Amino acid sequence: MRALLISDSLNLPKLLSPVSELKPSYVEAITNADSPVSVDRLLILKGDITNDCWVDVASERAKGFDLIALPASRDMREVAARIAARLGLPYVSGVTQVSIDDDIKASRLCFGGRGLELISVKLPSVLSFDLSAFEPSTGSPRSKEELGPRCDRRMRVLERRGKVAEVDLSKAETIVSVGRGLKRKEDLEIIRKLASLLGAEIACTRPISADLKWLPEERHVGMTGVRVRPRLYLALGISGQIQHVVGFRDAETVVSVNVDPEAPIGEVSDYFVIADLYEFVPKLIEALERK
Ligand SMILES: Cc1cc2nc3c(=O)[nH]c(=O)nc-3n(C[C@H](O)[C@H](O)[C@H](O)COP(=O)(O)OP(=O)(O)OC[C@H]3O[C@@H](n4cnc5c(N)ncnc54)[C@H](O)[C@@H]3O)c2cc1C
Repeated sequence: MRALLISDSLNLPKLLSPVSELKPSYVEAITNADSPVSVDRLLILKGDITNDCWVDVASERAKGFDLIALPASRDMREVAARIAARLGLPYVSGVTQVSIDDDIKASRLCFGGRGLELISVKLPSVLSFDLSAFEPSTGSPRSKEELGPRCDRRMRVLERRGKVAEVDLSKAETIVSVGRGLKRKEDLEIIRKLASLLGAEIACTRPISADLKWLPEERHVGMTGVRVRPRLYLALGISGQIQHVVGFRDAETVVSVNVDPEAPIGEVSDYFVIADLYEFVPKLIEALERK
């Protein structure tokens, strides 16, 4: 099986992990800068590469390959779909696990993250991978070549402004997360005190950041926010809607506090405390301070 990887250089080592598990006989990668990956051939595209350009170059080279793999990032999902359409190949997006017998067996989340679906797809095919679950696979390419593709510039990025992030929740070991059970913005003070005693980062549900603007957007966990995998996720006053729950499904231990014994968060918690957070949090702070 011959595999062609198409990825920016940062995601390429992670993308190689699931593809290597399929034991391909030959692996070629097209990327935009040098990358420490053990592939048979690394092609580095020079210049500012637009999505149009990725599609042109990759579709041209893809002939003769069985598997065309890309990261399921926003731009690459688009590129993958366009390559598949141009070459008339099947396309499976957001793959989290993959194996091969005669066909490819790919798993991905469904029902907004509540379920997993297993898909069988014939080769040749295009797959985009959700890389959050994979570790980078590093090494050195057996051969390397630079290409200066001439691409038709139908689209240009006029401006790109970086956001200065105050935290990277995806790396936090302990997270105290708040939802609409918190009544006022000022009450975040007591949450900050608890987080500091636990050495935790503060996270929240989308209404707290996007609607109420009490915390920055980079702290909201879930489908449209950050995916976290802490050792402890303490959920305070959070109902447990699926769009939030998918964001912490890889947490080691989930403790939740809610006044409503029927709150759905109870179903996904290791410890479900039926209590008012305004009583629970001061008591927990007191106990931690005594220690
Ligand atoms: C397309 C789409 C994408 C979305 N993406 C996301 C996402 O990425 N992340 C996200 O978080 N949401 C997302 N949402 C919103 C999501 O559906 C929920 O509306 C949201 O997660 C609910 O937030 P909450 O739990 O804070 O609020 P609520 O659902 O209002 O729950 C508040 C909870 O607090 C409890 N409570 C109240 N008072 C107290 C108290 N004193 N002590 C203890 N408990 C108390 C209540 O019993 C209740 O269970 C998305 C929605 C849509 C439509």
